[in-house]
Amino acid sequence: MLPIDPGADKGRRAWVPCPGCDDERGCATCEAGRTCADHWRYLLSTQGRMVHLQCPNCAHLWVWDSRFGAEGSPRC
Ligand SMILES: [Zn+2]
Ligand SMILES: [Zn+2]
Repeated sequence: MLPIDPGADKGRRAWVPCPGCDDERGCATCEAGRTCADHWRYLLSTQGRMVHLQCPNCAHLWVWDSRFGAEGSPRC
């Protein structure tokens, strides 16, 4: 398992489904699109619309396309 990034900060979180462990699956709070206290990801950095995330549950690191700033309306 990967270590949690030293730049990870609990003050910077994102609510994105984790492709590694899918721990939000079946959670009513997450399915309602609310900010769940249990299922969130560290927001490590952003590069334009691409967001670097790490899952505190399984330590999976990935880049997520927020679609923010792209043509059309942002997700949510
Ligand atoms: Zn995970
Ligand atoms: Zn949840």
